[in-house]
Amino acid sequence: MTTTLLTQLTYPGREPDTLICGLCAHRCGLRAGQVGRCGAILHRAGALHSRAAGRPAVLHADPVERKPLYHVLPGAKLLSLGTLGCNMSCDFCQNWRISQIHPNPAGDSIPPAAVVAAALDQGCAGIAFTYNEPTIYLDYAAAIMALAKQAGLLTAFKTNGYLTPEAIVLLTQPDWPLLDAVNVDLKGFDDGYYRRVCGARLQPVQDAIMQLHRRGVWVETTTLLIPSVNDSDGELRALTGWLASVSPDMPWHVWRFHPDYRMTDATWTHVRDVERALAIGRAAGLRYVYASNLPGDPNQHTRCSGCGAALIERAGNATTALHLEAGRCGKCGWSIPGRFAQCEVQK
Ligand code: SF4
Repeated sequence: MTTTLLTQLTYPGREPDTLICGLCAHRCGLRAGQVGRCGAILHRAGALHSRAAGRPAVLHADPVERKPLYHVLPGAKLLSLGTLGCNMSCDFCQNWRISQIHPNPAGDSIPPAAVVAAALDQGCAGIAFTYNEPTIYLDYAAAIMALAKQAGLLTAFKTNGYLTPEAIVLLTQPDWPLLDAVNVDLKGFDDGYYRRVCGARLQPVQDAIMQLHRRGVWVETTTLLIPSVNDSDGELRALTGWLASVSPDMPWHVWRFHPDYRMTDATWTHVRDVERALAIGRAAGLRYVYASNLPGDPNQHTRCSGCGAALIERAGNATTALHLEAGRCGKCGWSIPGRFAQCEVQK
């Protein structure tokens, strides 16, 4: 029997017929026939299985900037895969039509090799696991990532950061590193907000950001700014101060909210509040802060934190590398943090 990541992350519960899932910080205890909070992990025949594995609900090529990853292969396309289900239940979810539906285990599955072949056929530089939480189908993602690495493709997660420390260790083994880059949603900086609005806790997300960074994964973070909910100066100062303490070079994306799902009464984020958040991030010491879903806004561009030269300009889906040369500023030579070189084929 092959030892899967999920097998390695399955623990016996206190009750004899209960298994604990160690994929994410919920650590659900599941009796036979029960499904976890994500709707994906099922206890069947003495083992845990993912009903989301093998069944993408979304599979298409997308610009890397849409993840958003701004310091990873600018202008590249990533084949972007998402399934049904999620381990959080955010009231503001903008992908709720797939994330808040339980996976249907019936129907055809798409094997990992076919996903990698599709990425190569479509001229993608990598594969992103996005739109819903990839943790809930970790083995499927890992099988695709292993083949992707052999083909010289970059691998990326768009994640809510609720992975357990041991799941992160399995994805980042020094002799088998599967994951190149992540964008982690840091949805706010208040544990009560996480519990009330997202059905989760803040601390595991902070722990994952630190651990991923320390284990050599390229990390960017995103905060969806919701008016009068998570956008106070105090909360933003605390959030960005903490991010800067992890690394001032870690890009922070501020994402403008639009009313959706269970938050249709809230208002759109005003542009001036996005700019206020960016100013707070810069004052906290973050060198790369972005207004990532404001097309045409100059705060989408990357500037050299050494001399201020414009290095990468972004307008809609168009990305222009101006003075970025092998990860350095072409004007002053300042090293720009990120993953700017195409991956090599792994033997
Ligand atoms: S992945 Fe699903 S089953 Fe496993 S701990 Fe998280 S919510 Fe529970």
